[in-house]
Amino acid sequence: MSEIIAIANQKGGVGKTTTAVNLAASLAVAEKRVLLIDIDPQANATTGMGFSRNDYEFNIYHVLIGRKRMSQIILKTSLPTLHLAPSNIGLVGVEKEFYDNKTKGRELILKTKIEEIADQYDYIIIDSPPALGSITINALGAANSIIIPIQCEFYALEGLAQLLNTVKLIKKTINPKLEIKGFLPTMFSIQNNLSKQVFADLKQHFKSKLFVDKQGGDYVVIPRNVKLAESPSFGKPIILYDIKSPGSQAYQDLAQSIMVS
Ligand code: ADP
Ligand code: MG
Repeated sequence: MSEIIAIANQKGGVGKTTTAVNLAASLAVAEKRVLLIDIDPQANATTGMGFSRNDYEFNIYHVLIGRKRMSQIILKTSLPTLHLAPSNIGLVGVEKEFYDNKTKGRELILKTKIEEIADQYDYIIIDSPPALGSITINALGAANSIIIPIQCEFYALEGLAQLLNTVKLIKKTINPKLEIKGFLPTMFSIQNNLSKQVFADLKQHFKSKLFVDKQGGDYVVIPRNVKLAESPSFGKPIILYDIKSPGSQAYQDLAQSIMVS
């Protein structure tokens, strides 16, 4: 059975896409069969994997509105066991479409579509948009668990209560199985006091929900690392861009900690 993990946080720029792409790639390099689903209209995971608009005709929008099957949009990537369901700016239309048509069971459309192909993958990683609208609801409706990236810079815990309430509500209504897999501190910088403060707050409130590195026993923390910011412009996950970089190591640790759990 495949494990379906949504990467979500309604704040933009906290490291969702970076986490989705690099967790997916790290799992694939560890020989797991992985599907990365991009359901953000900004399509940053799609471009980050090296695809541009002209490389594919159909995307997750066509799946959600019922025009294509999931298997018809899936792309192969440069990693043999990593596939991608791409997105495109056209996906912004889906919220309106759901609303106009009062589409029945619209919160569970993605779940239904994933069920078509789920048995072909060990892990399905969903990159969601920076909002708590119907796209993110679909991601949380389809997932077994959620990873919440927390940027260790700005006042990171602000807005978290709203996200946790949404998770609770979804658990109560459409997806009783949804669990919080963990909080992932991102863009951590040891020189930055605010970074240390955010991490300390996370430890205080959510200690049992931090990822732990299998070997060292340390918490998994994603450092601020320029290589992580550069790699999307080369259309590559960090593991194919600079495998030895601290950012790459941290995402491999995250993948390891998920594979043993
Ligand atoms: P989100 O998907 O939550 O909007 P992104 O993953 O796109 O966030 O990250 C926002 C920006 O920060 C991107 O330009 C990305 O390359 C950069 N970034 C993300 N994580 C790191 C990191 N650990 N170190 C350096 N830059 C990062
Ligand atoms: Mg993103």
